Amino acid sequence: MASKILDATSFYAGIPFALQEKYYTTPLIFEEIKHIKKHHGAVNALIELDRLELLEPGKQFIEKVIQKAKQIGDFSELSNGDISVIALSLQLSGEIITDDFAVSNVAKQLGIKTLPVMTRGISKILQRSLYCIACQKEFDSGKQCPICGTILKKRLTKSESSSNPISK
Ligand SMILES: [Zn+2]
Repeated sequence: MASKILDATSFYAGIPFALQEKYYTTPLIFEEIKHIKKHHGAVNALIELDRLELLEPGKQFIEKVIQKAKQIGDFSELSNGDISVIALSLQLSGEIITDDFAVSNVAKQLGIKTLPVMTRGISKILQRSLYCIACQKEFDSGKQCPICGTILKKRLTKSESSSNPISK
């Protein structure tokens, strides 16, 4: 059975520890969630019971995640904690439990399975595109619109049908 790796959103949602499985997270995520007093005692108890283990991912895995995130334009959306859980999932060939959109997206691009905490999950890989508000055009890369020079905004492009379809 694949290792289950928890990101910060798993802890915010309440901890999905109903199953007798072992979970992993990273020291950075542990730091990120320290302020959630409500769950903190439970998190420590799980570590003591060896149900939750903190592991630091290897540098080469972190590098790989950063490279992929930059390539698909999600790098600015990810915290160091986010990057660390994706890297750990890669290292353990595990599955990430997350409701974080950017984490899911980068993980999927790296071939990592993601499981939703609360939401139904993203059935299709969502691509981020860059959009010029002035020209109403999409671009694959760049910081400024090549036509008018406006700073491009990130926008999600869903491949599934939407109630508010965007015409190109
Ligand atoms: Zn423009």
